[in-house]
Amino acid sequence: MSELQDNIAKAQTYLARFKETGVMNRIGGADRPAASGASFDNHSPVDEAFLCKVARSDAADIDAAAQAAHEAFPAWAAISGAERKKILHKIADAIVARAEEIAFAECLDTGQALRFMQKAALRGAENFRFFADRAPSARDGQTLPSPTLMNITTRVPIGPVGVITPWNTPFMLSTWKIAPALAAGCTVVHKPAEFSPITARILLEIAEEAGLPPGVWNLVNGFGEDAGRALTEHPKIKAIAFVGESKTGSMIMKQGADTLKRVHFELGGKNPVVVFDDADLDRALDAAIFMIYSLNGERCTSSSRLLLQSTIASDFIEKLKKRVENIRVGHPLDPKTEVGPLIHKTHFDKVTSYFDVAQKDGATIACGGTRVGDTGWFVAPTLFTGASQDMRIANEEIFGPVLTALTFETEDEALEMANAIEYGLTGYVWTNDLTRALRFTERLEAGMIWVNSENVRHLPTPFGGVKASGIGRDGGDWSFEFYMEQKHIGLATGQHKIPQLGL
Ligand code: NAD
Repeated sequence: MSELQDNIAKAQTYLARFKETGVMNRIGGADRPAASGASFDNHSPVDEAFLCKVARSDAADIDAAAQAAHEAFPAWAAISGAERKKILHKIADAIVARAEEIAFAECLDTGQALRFMQKAALRGAENFRFFADRAPSARDGQTLPSPTLMNITTRVPIGPVGVITPWNTPFMLSTWKIAPALAAGCTVVHKPAEFSPITARILLEIAEEAGLPPGVWNLVNGFGEDAGRALTEHPKIKAIAFVGESKTGSMIMKQGADTLKRVHFELGGKNPVVVFDDADLDRALDAAIFMIYSLNGERCTSSSRLLLQSTIASDFIEKLKKRVENIRVGHPLDPKTEVGPLIHKTHFDKVTSYFDVAQKDGATIACGGTRVGDTGWFVAPTLFTGASQDMRIANEEIFGPVLTALTFETEDEALEMANAIEYGLTGYVWTNDLTRALRFTERLEAGMIWVNSENVRHLPTPFGGVKASGIGRDGGDWSFEFYMEQKHIGLATGQHKIPQLGL
């Protein structure tokens, strides 16, 4: 048996139970179908094979989950940070122990290649460990003495929170949002993306087996417009941590207005990689390719706009074309595969529609621009050249293995192009001129910028975007700022004069 066949057989064994029972909700530590009895079918993007039925929940299920999270909150918030730390580390241990199952399930459910999903499962464990270690100090505050008062601050968990996640790397993103919520002392209702429900369910099973009390974390499946919407409107849910499209973020803000929801948004991007002619061009080439064609280009931080200084553009593009044509498209469980199928037909239709858009707008399809095979949602890694910043392909988030290359003459022109979009998530700058790097990053409108590097995540640093790419930051202590309330307590230190009225 080849390694691929072996992996497919293993993946099917892991997923067999979901085919039988479907993916149910889990509320207050119990499995529950949707209250209405409704479900929907989940298919693999690899070959459209049926994977499982999924509970199609609505406001009644969200209400039950919010109630469970509400009831579990006081006890979970009250246990010591040291105890929470222990449980979260056990969750991390169990993720590592089941990393193969998680990776294989993710590959078949999302189409992401195994080479990246193995790491994503382990990164999920790292997220739990990182926030586990910070749980004991999450409540720490400051002392701010004034002449008459000893002022102290402390932090308390905000309450039950809703977490809404997308379908790209759903396992890793769920851990990234849920681990800090639990470490802070919040309880959670998680609504994963309808296109990729499986690993969210495995993750919750792991957490409960590791000793997380029932009701602390609840899972409700379903579509955004019903289950997702109900979660954002529920009065017992105090905050919504959302990862997804910018236009969905805007809807959630409106939906949450009546209950004054606190929101944290990690949204879309159309991120520039700017290459100056003094840069290490071989490393820039590697990084630019990795940041758009890994994870099928379904990556919020992807470098989807390549801005090249005109002096090096034609050589760089020649080398780029050769590499892009060489990228291995294939079954996500094949260890050699670099690009797998896109998540779903709807998304495949969106991505491939840009092939026509590019041509109509006058750009050139230098590589790709086609479907690969006739089953599954595979597209050839695509490169658009001859583009200008006013074209749709240079402004809109395509969210596939599709790169738009543009050229610039001067640093000012590069900056203008880099900033001329509605998004501001990441930026990548390649130059060996230190003063230019400082100047450019100062003026580049992005929440995260890497100089002479691809995106290398360091968990203590802030993660998030500006403009239409998001509101708020994750990572380090920033996650706790979102999931906790600051409290100030002023204690009189003597007999200071209190203004007297009505004497
Ligand atoms: P999406 O916005 O369509 O869906 C995300 C989640 O929101 C899903 O669970 C969906 O069911 C839910 N949802 C949809 N409508 C809703 C509503 N009205 N109320 C409440 N919930 C609702 O996004 P997607 O297509 O699943 O994911 C891709 C997008 O996510 C891209 O734009 C990508 O850039 C973005 N993303 C951003 C980051 C980041 O950190 N900035 C990370 C990953 C993905």
